[in-house]
Amino acid sequence: MSEDFGAWLAGISKVLDRNGVSDVPCGECTACCRASQFVHVEPDELETLARIPRALLFPAPNAPVGHRVMGYDERGHCPMLVDDRCSIYEVRPRACRAYDCRVFSATEVFPEEPEKVEVVARARAWTFTYAADTDRRTHQRLVELAASIRSDARPVPGSTATHVALGAIARFVASDSQPGRDS
Ligand code: SF4
Repeated sequence: MSEDFGAWLAGISKVLDRNGVSDVPCGECTACCRASQFVHVEPDELETLARIPRALLFPAPNAPVGHRVMGYDERGHCPMLVDDRCSIYEVRPRACRAYDCRVFSATEVFPEEPEKVEVVARARAWTFTYAADTDRRTHQRLVELAASIRSDARPVPGSTATHVALGAIARFVASDSQPGRDS
């Protein structure tokens, strides 16, 4: 599985800006729905909230009132996953629409928790192609930034690979290291 790096970076930038949804070609993969992840549901996601039983929703920690999280079952599966398919796919939470396992391969920061092993395997299967050498160098700078953030972030409790990877991408696209600014 491969992806043009420049196009991917432009797409994930929009997702991080809340101006787009992730376009991961998941196929039959549901690894992220079975990875013991809490799913954030925001107060304005009314159709989504209407489909999730109240008993499965809890106040989101460190978030304003009304923000909730949906937990997972004893197998680590999202309770909305039925017969290995999302039972609320058409109104799935915004967090699910934004999720992109390629952030790990793009930053070379991978989760280490055993319950994420399938997500990591999927992410490691992604490779990037480059329309130009500048894209290749841009990617290298992103990897270097992620590595530096990771080494800073490790002692901070709660700094997961997802936080580090997304933080690196957000900081990168906001910086002078963006594509087109290659020197
Ligand atoms: S709501 Fe649907 S897409 Fe989101 S984690 Fe659950 S099963 Fe997966």
